[in-house]
Amino acid sequence: MKDTHPTHIALHDAGDADEATFGERGARLARLARVGLPVPLGRLVSVDLVAQVAAEGAEAALGDLISAVAGRLPPDGLLALRGSPERTAWGGPTALLNIGITDARLPALIERVGPGCAAELYFRLIAGFGVTVRGMDPDEFETLVYDQVKHSGVSGEAELPAEAWASLLQQAKRAFEADTEQPFPQSVETQLAAAIDAMAHRWHTPSARILRAARGAPEDAGIALIIQRMVLGIGERACGAGIAHFTDERSGVPLTWGRFLPCAQGPDVLMGLRTPHLITSEERARAGQSAKALEEMIPGAVTTLAGLWDMAGSGLGESYSFEFTIEDGTVWLLDAAPGRRSSRAAVRIAVDLARKGAITREDAILRVEPRNLVEHLHPQIDPTAQRDTLGQGLAASPGAATGKIVFSPEEAQALHAQGEAAILVRVETSPEDIRGMHSAAGVITVRGGMTSHAAVIARGLGLPCVVGAGDLRLDAKRQKLVARDGRSFDAGDIVTVDGTRGEVVAGAPAMIQAELTGAFETLMSWADQVRGIEVRANADTPADARTARGFNVDGIGLCRTEHMFFHEDRINVMREMILADTREDRVRALDRLLPMQRDDIVELFSIMRGLPVTIRLLDPPLHEFLPHSRDEMHTLAEAMDVPVSQIVARAESLREFNPMLGKRGVRLGVTMPEIYDMQARAIFEAAAIVNLQNLEQVVPEIMIPLVSANREAEMVKARVDAIAAAVMAEREVSLTYRLGVMVETPRAALRAGDLARSSAFLSFGTNDLTQMTYGLSRDDAGRFMRDYVNQGVYPEDPFHSLDIEGVGELLLMASQRGRATNPTLTLGLCGEHGGDPASIRFCTLAGFDYVSCSPFRVPIARLAAAQATI
Ligand code: PEP
Ligand code: MG
Repeated sequence: MKDTHPTHIALHDAGDADEATFGERGARLARLARVGLPVPLGRLVSVDLVAQVAAEGAEAALGDLISAVAGRLPPDGLLALRGSPERTAWGGPTALLNIGITDARLPALIERVGPGCAAELYFRLIAGFGVTVRGMDPDEFETLVYDQVKHSGVSGEAELPAEAWASLLQQAKRAFEADTEQPFPQSVETQLAAAIDAMAHRWHTPSARILRAARGAPEDAGIALIIQRMVLGIGERACGAGIAHFTDERSGVPLTWGRFLPCAQGPDVLMGLRTPHLITSEERARAGQSAKALEEMIPGAVTTLAGLWDMAGSGLGESYSFEFTIEDGTVWLLDAAPGRRSSRAAVRIAVDLARKGAITREDAILRVEPRNLVEHLHPQIDPTAQRDTLGQGLAASPGAATGKIVFSPEEAQALHAQGEAAILVRVETSPEDIRGMHSAAGVITVRGGMTSHAAVIARGLGLPCVVGAGDLRLDAKRQKLVARDGRSFDAGDIVTVDGTRGEVVAGAPAMIQAELTGAFETLMSWADQVRGIEVRANADTPADARTARGFNVDGIGLCRTEHMFFHEDRINVMREMILADTREDRVRALDRLLPMQRDDIVELFSIMRGLPVTIRLLDPPLHEFLPHSRDEMHTLAEAMDVPVSQIVARAESLREFNPMLGKRGVRLGVTMPEIYDMQARAIFEAAAIVNLQNLEQVVPEIMIPLVSANREAEMVKARVDAIAAAVMAEREVSLTYRLGVMVETPRAALRAGDLARSSAFLSFGTNDLTQMTYGLSRDDAGRFMRDYVNQGVYPEDPFHSLDIEGVGELLLMASQRGRATNPTLTLGLCGEHGGDPASIRFCTLAGFDYVSCSPFRVPIARLAAAQATI
């Protein structure tokens, strides 16, 4: 909690200092000191005290402290003054180093570090003071050094002899006096007070405020100060400054690396004025550098640093990178920041820290952003690779894939057959493209949103996909993909889809491969031990189910059976069923579909081995199964031996103005009950077959889509129950099954109490429920969603992250009404939101039993579910 009493405290006594009082760096240094790390002695001046300095001046607000610090400074001691804003990212004033050198104190410093280094330090103080306190132009001092280097005939500043520095010191004093019309201050108190004043005032100037605000700082953001003893990286014995890291940025594997400048002070390394040395000999060998590494220059320093890293990890539960200075062979820490890391590295580091006992397993789970797990699940473009971005769209399905551009599903299949990777580029995809999508390595659509066909299927298949790439143009006539900068690409040209970032990239940038073992696996197992909600998968095919199983799911929460009918060898039978004129013809076609459906379901049940499998009865409007192009209609007419006009007429009769609101879902089941009859039979026969073979007994869950009236559900249930009874009698087996309803319409949510009375479960289809609650087409929203989100109309795409206020309220209301009439009711969610961490948190808090999401999002959901439970 923020201490509102203006105060200052010894850094080594401030172990529990907080950021709001002493700033991020101040609080961190205090913690490092607390666990015994070598941090130079110092004092922290609180944010409120600095504000007082800004108002009253350093003498008035802080005079006693300044005198005490200056009085205690040994004759050869120097001070550093650093700003410590509450967040380092807000920026802040440059540190002023080497405070305390005066003409009178110079001899003691010469004694300590020799005449050349002492003069250099004095020069640096005058330059730093001139620039940061008196507002002089840094060029003035840089020019002096530049000219001196030329005059002395050496290759750089580091080679300047002692006399040259002595001369530079005199030049700096003259420049200071000429510019400020005052001699350089000759007392430690005056230097320190002026520096404190300058830092406090600078922070409160209007331009500093504006700059900070641009970095996200609040209007009243404050700054604390750190007054510290200087450790001298400049001297005649082993000394210098550097930055050391201890884990590999990409993998998180322990690895020591960094930079070091002999005879230098911290900012020199950051500014990169001189070419730094590497830290370890191994690193040097890898980089093919001849200059010695720190390890070789100052034996023991790297081992010491590694030991300090270990100590900081155990004491503070973080893998830090260090900013360090070496003075006479002794290592000191000037700062420590959590090392930069990729998402993969973050997992490895969190798991390693928990294994060491530095943090708890819960902490490790909380430290990893669930969405970032996609980096483990799919190949990604190497973050260090150059990218030539052609266009952007929605990041519809994560991962990256490189391949040759194809413009049709047939070409994708052909290329796949030759063992080559294809990137399927379409304006939008439709169910007919599914086979092509199966053969593609990645998919790009110019239109479409997060729940468009391409997006949903790609996520299911784990295919990298970018949809709604509106700044790309598809010139279908000339078969060209035109980039936003006008470059055009033909079929066969190589591109890369980055579905993680929503970008289409030219050529084949370097990739990093998926990684599902090691630390990832460990973290997942920890997450499973704490999470309080089941994670199931939306799996339509045996291949999906296998993938889901590989990700350790708790079952299948949604099997969209229609996807079983898009197979090459099935689609025409399906079409015959749809085109049938009479009920008898329809039943004949359905009889042929039955074994196909049953075989798939047998496989699903076998793969899931007794885990719950929820199978949804047919949902889409029938016209989706019919051919769209004239050519395909001809082919179908030939195959069915009917005139093409008959097919055209039937397709026309099925056309609807609003197909998503038309004859689909349970409305098909009510008006063409034979379809659901066939599906129910396939499910029960499959269960009977599997239960005969396996010990783990299948309890199929049958789900009715798009219900809005209880009577619809009752009618379907009556027929399903009858078919179950028939199959049991025919096969002389006993089967247990559960019947449930999808809540996808606002009316179903309102009437959930009725629906629950005779349902074993309610599963919220939040894709349709969002569409219908907003009155917003899920297939068209992508065209303007980015504008809406950018303008803040919606905080987020509601098809992506559940609209807690609106759709969420329907979910809460329906779940309460449902459980009121049926206390044993199972509640689940199976829309795309089932893989979204914020939506999973909502479902956990609302007491749902499961969420169900695309197989490749299962690990993300497992981690998010654990975080929601902790
Ligand atoms: C839904 O609407 O949320 C759902 C799961 O069904 P579909 O996406 O197949 O319409
Ligand atoms: Mg739906």
